[in-house]
Amino acid sequence: SLSDRLTGALKDLRGKGRLSPADIDATCREIRLALLEADVALPVVRGFIARIKERAKGSEVSAALNPAQQVVKIVNEELVAILGGETRRLTLAKTPPTVIMLAGLQGAGKTTLAGKLAKWLRDQGHQPLLVACDLQRPGAVTQLQVVGERAGVPVFAPHPGTSIGGGENALGVTAADPIAVAEAGITEARAKQYDVVIVDTAGRLGIDAELMAQAAGIRDAVKPDETLFVLDAMIGQDAVSTAEAFRDGVGFTGVVLTKLDGDARGGAALSVRNVTGEPIMFASTGEKLEDFDVFHPDRMASRILGMGDVLTLIEQAEQVYDAQQAEEAARKIGSGELTLEDFLDQMLAIRKLGPIGNLLGMLPGAGQMKDALAQVDDKQLDRVQAIIRGMTPAERDNPKIINASRRLRIANGSGVQVSDVNQLVDRFFEARKMMTAMGRQMGMPGGNRRTK
Ligand code: GDP
Ligand code: MG
Repeated sequence: SLSDRLTGALKDLRGKGRLSPADIDATCREIRLALLEADVALPVVRGFIARIKERAKGSEVSAALNPAQQVVKIVNEELVAILGGETRRLTLAKTPPTVIMLAGLQGAGKTTLAGKLAKWLRDQGHQPLLVACDLQRPGAVTQLQVVGERAGVPVFAPHPGTSIGGGENALGVTAADPIAVAEAGITEARAKQYDVVIVDTAGRLGIDAELMAQAAGIRDAVKPDETLFVLDAMIGQDAVSTAEAFRDGVGFTGVVLTKLDGDARGGAALSVRNVTGEPIMFASTGEKLEDFDVFHPDRMASRILGMGDVLTLIEQAEQVYDAQQAEEAARKIGSGELTLEDFLDQMLAIRKLGPIGNLLGMLPGAGQMKDALAQVDDKQLDRVQAIIRGMTPAERDNPKIINASRRLRIANGSGVQVSDVNQLVDRFFEARKMMTAMGRQMGMPGGNRRTK
């Protein structure tokens, strides 16, 4: 999947202390292939890669992040930007009812979405009315009525006796004229004080002049506050031409991506905003009413990157790390010079991120690291902090001098047992050894190992 390929491309950077232009080119090539394979439109891919390259080669040096993390951060930020940046909320009319019209090809998921949107609005205290303007397909009206019933939202429909909320054909609409039904639906909403009207429309299997004319006619009749273009995320490269046709033929103010549950590629999501200039507002992720959410570009980006909330961690690390301190720590880890003072600094920096339990949730996967961390609680860290604070600077700098009498003094001074001090010192030596080995593996700048 796109996620796997992107993660793979970025993984190759890990362990590099500095990225050469060739490293960046190679990574960009991989990302480019991954995007093309995911059916992202070519012009979108080109622009994306050009921006990544420029930023990665530019001087966005951060001491808090290693080069690989910096590239991950850049890729993530560009993904968010391409997906629309900010979350776009629904615009409500100043004078109700707010009219929301749905447009899109047959099978895109309009009717299903109508129910989801209606339920979502109802849950927020609105009084929506569904209007059935798909009179093309046999059974389309009934389908909307079933959906409406599940959502607990009334449906205005043209045929006598089939209208739950609209009263018995009160407005005399029986003809199979979707424009007349749409107009009558709005009148009904005004009369009965529904504050949101969702207009479901017909679609065709392909782009078609008659379909566009009908949708444009409904649009002119109901003057929607929002026209949502409903797009099946699984249609791949066709997403772009379909979106363009609807933009030109009907016009829309927002996009809803459906069937995101089945789309491993993510191409439509990445192309549609860029190509049409309109934001993705909602995402549909299944057939059930609950499989629906507001579209958040940042969440989608991290889903595509497949790195869990590791990105949040990167962001927070950047905020709390003092640049020079981080550089110095990296150098010391690499050269085996880490002292208890550094250990304390690192610990305090990590603790600024929040309780250890929260950090655990942000790390991807399970892994040994996570298991080890899970055994550390904040109380234990408090104790470690107290012990190190009870040491003299000389002891912190060179823990090897901490003999039995010093241990007793430290224990008494920090209110712990001698065994606690012993354990901390032992663990520190172990950790230093491990970190030095890890630092080497990750290409951290080191030097000659200090023999102390
Ligand atoms: P319309 O022709 O645009 O009104 O499309 P429908 O709402 O009738 O949906 C067409 C088919 O897609 C139906 O079988 C729906 O159950 C299914 N469907 C709609 N949205 C989703 C979704 O987000 N995920 C999945 N898996 N199926 C969906
Ligand atoms: Mg339908």
